Amino acid sequence: MAPSAIDIIPEYATNESVTNNHKYVQAVSDYESGAEHVHDGAKTAKEMIGAALQKHVQAVDPHDCEVGEEDAFFVADMGEVYRQHLRWKKHLKRVTPHFAVKCNPDPMVIKLLAALGAGFDCASKSEIDQVLRTGVDPTRIIYAQPCKTKSYLRYTAKQDVKQMTFDNTDELYKIKEIFPNAELFLRIFTDDSASLCRLSQKFGASIDAVPELLGLAKQLDLNIAGVAFHVGSGASDPSAFLKAVTDARSVFDQAQALGFQPHTLDVGGGFVSETFDEMAAVLSTALDEHFPPSMRIIAEPGRYYTSSAFTIACNVIARRTVEDKDLGVKSYMLYLNDGVYGNFSSIMFDHQHPIPRVLTTRHKQDGFNYSTESMTDSGYISAEEGSGEAGRNGKLIEYSIWGPTCDGIDCIAEKWHSVETVDVGDWLYFEEMGAYTKCSATRFNGFTDKHETKYVCSEPGASALLGL
Ligand code: PLP
Repeated sequence: MAPSAIDIIPEYATNESVTNNHKYVQAVSDYESGAEHVHDGAKTAKEMIGAALQKHVQAVDPHDCEVGEEDAFFVADMGEVYRQHLRWKKHLKRVTPHFAVKCNPDPMVIKLLAALGAGFDCASKSEIDQVLRTGVDPTRIIYAQPCKTKSYLRYTAKQDVKQMTFDNTDELYKIKEIFPNAELFLRIFTDDSASLCRLSQKFGASIDAVPELLGLAKQLDLNIAGVAFHVGSGASDPSAFLKAVTDARSVFDQAQALGFQPHTLDVGGGFVSETFDEMAAVLSTALDEHFPPSMRIIAEPGRYYTSSAFTIACNVIARRTVEDKDLGVKSYMLYLNDGVYGNFSSIMFDHQHPIPRVLTTRHKQDGFNYSTESMTDSGYISAEEGSGEAGRNGKLIEYSIWGPTCDGIDCIAEKWHSVETVDVGDWLYFEEMGAYTKCSATRFNGFTDKHETKYVCSEPGASALLGL
């Protein structure tokens, strides 16, 4: 599960242009402004991200900067999103991904996936709007929210976004009134007990309810275009897909028996990068067994695409020394300028445990110590793993890591160990911060929810598609 650490190599944070035959990479900072393209000689995606992190923090002096200059910021590698798409195409050939915008509505991600031919799963008016503004045709959008706001539904009808899910009779009456030509996907209940975020306690018709729902749709002269399910976000049990595909087949059969001509199966989201290949194999086999090649299959992946593409760096704004005089031990509480009410909302909403790593310490910047070894409660040894003789023999310092708000639940890590002495003004970074993070950040206590994203692109193919 734990990813490899980013190479923090200060010398890559330059504007020099170096071409490497095999591994050409391009760093692009401040994409939104289009101002600066940095061709680095970085050799790997990790090095590129490290270079972009370093470049930003070296330009900021937290001890003397303007308000907000030391704010937390993201570095996003569009090459990683691109690679995930190629991997999807390889392992799930039959399935057209409709990226779940809710997971990370980053404009560059949307632009890249649109250029790659993906569709989009939108859950609200503003998500639909954002995707349409990117130039995506309404036929590539599914309004995958079984319980829709009426005014949003009117908007959807006006924009001709026809595909949408439903799972109850009240919604069918609503759709009949507002958008009778809609293409309806009956979302069914799944066993999502092995997922991180369970969704079926809120959405999904039970198989027992299907005859009534299809019967009412027939009576109202509505269009049943397909079946949808979601096995839960962060799913871990491939057999959930097996059962859901089998159930979906039975709904197709019932719909066809009533004279509907359903043409699309939507297998939802739930894919996780670490287990994707295995899940995809099980799903593909089930699809081939139950649905003919002519059947259109779509999915709604979210975290699979963006989780590993985003890294966040946070500044240490305060430190409290905690001394246990009886035991003669000292530890520190570190306060960062981002936390659970900000981009670390994933700790509360998405059951994540972000892993801290040292980006810069004054000690490091002075060039005295480039070995970093840090360890979370789980025992995972992070950062320059294997190169950390100094860490293993050295003394580990204990920290707890907190967000900037006044709330006691604003805790990022209760216990973290590092050989580094981390102090006010230093920077930590966290990988795997691209899913259900920025999108659910708040402005609680007056802290910003508008954190900058620096874009890098470790794949020439993605750079070309993005016109970088
Ligand atoms: N589709 C729907 C309807 C969802 O509710 C979600 C997540 O909540 C997703 C897709 C994306 O799920 P994931 O990020 O697990 O792929």
